[in-house]
Amino acid sequence: MNRVFIDMDGVIVDFDKYKREHAVEGERLVKQQGIYLKMEPIPGALEAVRSVISMGYDVWIATKPPTGMAGAYADKAEWIFRTLPELKRKIIITHDKGLLGDSGDYLLDDRPHAANCEQFKVWLMRFIDGFHWEQALTILRKNQPNN
Ligand SMILES: [Mg+2]
Repeated sequence: MNRVFIDMDGVIVDFDKYKREHAVEGERLVKQQGIYLKMEPIPGALEAVRSVISMGYDVWIATKPPTGMAGAYADKAEWIFRTLPELKRKIIITHDKGLLGDSGDYLLDDRPHAANCEQFKVWLMRFIDGFHWEQALTILRKNQPNN
């Protein structure tokens, strides 16, 4: 079954909006336990994730934690439990996304230079330069296992 690994911040979680509205630096933000749970989904992202699931892909969350912040692991997991409970058993928290994936798999990430994303096997979809869910869904729909 083809897998789709989905990053959280910048792909489904609106980290930047929270940063902007609260005028706080990202570096400080990640050190505040529980703050992550106040962040909203990016508009349309939850629907997009669910439509990828319905296409027949095996969908996983693949998120990089801030280094050394044990609480952040819990906050990220809790965010998924609350917001995308259907993925509560599909959460990977790792500093090395290059370990993931095999042929036919996808990684959707807005910071492809980080977390060893570029080592991901096969299809790294970079959520940069205007490429976002709309473009990703078009590709995934075309290649969907349920076709
Ligand atoms: Mg990200």
